[in-house]
Amino acid sequence: MDNTAVELKFRETLFLRYSQCEKYLLPRDVYYKTVSDLRLAATTKTKKSRHQYYLLSKYEILQCGDVEKLIKKRESPEERPVYYVSIEDTYEIIKKAHISTGHGGRDRMLKHIKEKYANITKDSLDLFKSYCVVCQEKRKRQKTNGVVVKPILSSEFNSRAQVDLIDMQSLPQGQYKWIMVYQCHLTKFVILRPLTSKRAAEVAYQLLDIFLLFGAPAILQSDNGSEFTAQVITELKVLWPQLVMVHGKPRHPQSQGSVERANSDIKDILVAWMSDNNTNDWTVGLKFTQQQKNCAHHAGINQTPYKALFGENPKVGLTSSSLPSEILERLQSEDDLLAIFGQQNTSARNDDPPPTTATSAEPQSPPARTDEPQPTSARTDDPQPTSTRTAEPQPTPARTAEPQPTSARTAEPQPSSADFTDWL
Ligand SMILES: [Zn+2]
Repeated sequence: MDNTAVELKFRETLFLRYSQCEKYLLPRDVYYKTVSDLRLAATTKTKKSRHQYYLLSKYEILQCGDVEKLIKKRESPEERPVYYVSIEDTYEIIKKAHISTGHGGRDRMLKHIKEKYANITKDSLDLFKSYCVVCQEKRKRQKTNGVVVKPILSSEFNSRAQVDLIDMQSLPQGQYKWIMVYQCHLTKFVILRPLTSKRAAEVAYQLLDIFLLFGAPAILQSDNGSEFTAQVITELKVLWPQLVMVHGKPRHPQSQGSVERANSDIKDILVAWMSDNNTNDWTVGLKFTQQQKNCAHHAGINQTPYKALFGENPKVGLTSSSLPSEILERLQSEDDLLAIFGQQNTSARNDDPPPTTATSAEPQSPPARTDEPQPTSARTDDPQPTSTRTAEPQPTPARTAEPQPTSARTAEPQPSSADFTDWL
C-alpha cells in the first residue's frame, strides 16, 4: 500500500468507527455544521434550544484570520486552544506526531497530541501505527532479535577485556611457565595461552593473535595492575600501530584473593585434566580447560560464554548430533552418515526432506535448554576429557587416544559454574 492508499484505508476505518459511535469522531461535514450551528447559537438572542446550550457548553469557535476552527470550550480566552479535528484531517495530524516522536507508540503520540487536539482517539493512534511501514519493519527486526541472542551481546564483545597471568613456575612444561588468561567482560568468554615469561612483549604477542581473530577491546585491564597493562598496550602498539586502547582499573583493586581464586580455579581444572590423561602437559590441557569454561553455564549471564559470543551452543562434531552413541562409534565416512539417514528416511514420514549433506545430521532446532550444559550441583572434580570420537584436535599423549565410549551427552563439558562465578 502506498501512502495515499494507507490514508484512504485509515479514513475508511475511522468512518466505520464513526458509524458505530458518534461521540468522538467528526466527519468534515459534521464539523462544519457544528461550526455554523454554534455561530447561530451564539448569536441567538431569544430563547436557545437545549441543543444550542449543549453546543455552547462544549465548543468554541476560534477565528484565525479567515479560518474558523472548532475548539474545546475554554474557561478563559488566555487558555491554550484545544482543537477538534475532522476525520479527514486526522491522518496528517497523527502522521506529524508520529514522525516527531521518532515513530513513537500510542502513548508517546498521545502525550504529544492531547495538549493540542480534543478528539483524536487512542484507537486512531493504534490504527495509524499499525499501518506505518517503518514501524512494521522495526517490529520484524525486533522479532528476529528476540530469537537470536548473539547480535545484542556480541555487538559489545570486546568493549572491555581482562588479561591476567597465572604462575606455573612450579610446574614448568618445556619453556612454558605462565598461563595467560584473557576474558571478554561481556560474554565471559575465556582464552587461555601458555607463556614462557610474564614479559609484556610476550603477552602482547599472544593478545595480537586474539585481537586479530576476535577484534580488540576498547579497554584492557588486569589484576596484575595498570602498570602491567600499560606496558602490554605499549608493546601492542609496536605490533599494531593502528590499535588504540586504554588500560582500565584492575577488576578487584584491593583484593589479591580473587586473583588467587581465579588461578586456583583454572589450576584445579588443569590438574584434573592432567590426572585423567596421565600427563603433565598442561599446555595441552589448557585448550580443554578453555573449552570447558566457555561451555559451562555462567550464572552471571545465565548462559554459556560460548553461546553469549556465538549465539548458539558449541558443537562437538557428530557427538553433538542426536544420533545414538552406538551409531556414532561406527561412523567413518560421509557415506556411513548417508546410509543412516537413508535408513531413517525409509521409516520416516514422507514429508521429511531427504538429507543430502553431513550437516543434516544436526538435530533440527533442539530445544535450547537441552543443549545447554546443566550446571551440576555437586562439584565435578574431574573435567570430562573428550574422547577421540570428538572433533577436537588430539595432541594428547598416547594413553588418551584410547577411545572412551561416551554418549553424546557426557561428551559435553561438565560445567561446575559455581566454581567460576567467584572470579568472573
Ligand atoms: Zn512508524
